[in-house]
Amino acid sequence: MKIQDIQAIQLLLSTPKKIAIIPHRGPDGDAMGSTLGLYHFLLKNNHYPTVIAPNEFPDFLDWMPGAGKVKIFEKDKGNCTKILEEAEIIFTLDFNALHRVGVMEEVLSRLKAPFIMIDHHQFPHDYAAYTYSDTSFGSTCEMLYNFIVFLGKKEVIDETIGTCIYTGILTDSGSFRFPKTTGTTHRIIAELIDLGVKNTVIPNLLFDNSSFGRLQLLGRALQNMKVLTEHKTAYTTLTQDELDSFDHVKGDTEGIVNYGLSIKGIIFTAIFIENKDEKIIKISFRSQGDFDVNQFARDHFNGGGHINAAGGKSESSMDETTQKFEDLVKNLSI
Ligand code: 5GP
Ligand code: MN
Repeated sequence: MKIQDIQAIQLLLSTPKKIAIIPHRGPDGDAMGSTLGLYHFLLKNNHYPTVIAPNEFPDFLDWMPGAGKVKIFEKDKGNCTKILEEAEIIFTLDFNALHRVGVMEEVLSRLKAPFIMIDHHQFPHDYAAYTYSDTSFGSTCEMLYNFIVFLGKKEVIDETIGTCIYTGILTDSGSFRFPKTTGTTHRIIAELIDLGVKNTVIPNLLFDNSSFGRLQLLGRALQNMKVLTEHKTAYTTLTQDELDSFDHVKGDTEGIVNYGLSIKGIIFTAIFIENKDEKIIKISFRSQGDFDVNQFARDHFNGGGHINAAGGKSESSMDETTQKFEDLVKNLSI
């Protein structure tokens, strides 16, 4: 971050403020980890923070410290709008374009308070007074740790803040396996463990807390998988009927997309998930190595993300969408 920006933010935070903290729609471990980590940091510094998520976060994150205090815009528009309008500072974390908050964009775009963005996605938009954007980081949570250090407040990081930061680093790095995981990432993790963060418990809470329905849904997705060996690609689908038949809850499909990459020789995977309410097919893409799924999602499926993990959507039927995907893949030289 620029030294002038750090100084300006230090000045802003030098007296107690009402502060809104916002993750992207469909918040994941990094979005919740960074917003809740910042929430606890600001509370400890005598501010009045509120985390406002555009919509519900998945059940597997409800153990996170402060999760019960998160306001959900879609469920309580009146109250959330009031909090946003009264906020003196707005933090947006783990996204960099206002359309990522869905219908909440209308409210955010008319607020006058200064925005502070902390984010690791490509191509940041220009809405924030202070932008800390860096695609070299594997998670917003690792950037939040740096942000607190930049402010000269490292000693404020305790087990609670550390637990939130740990969660985002763990989930966005694929349990420390993705390429942006560095020695520094591990040194931060080591410090968090020394602060008491329960590194052997958190992964269980996140990944080993499944319902039987979720396992059956995973089984169905694996059965539905189509492998295009020649094109080093595998993809799978889940229709709304399949989701419903396994009593699907939010978060159940998280991570399923990665299974395709565990097949020898496969470097590109996708999952297509029907959402009848929103009348879309939500798509996740993952790759290994140089194949840029961010570009692929931007070019063909109205989405974006990072080089090895991106998402997008389609308003066509499932069959049309997967057909388009197959046609595209067959014309790529992967
Ligand atoms: P996931 O597949 O886990 O939902 O998302 C993977 C990555 O792609 C995340 O970093 C997420 O922020 C980004 N992403 C997912 N869906 C979209 C989308 O519709 N638009 C954009 N711009 N990015 C997305
Ligand atoms: Mn992230």
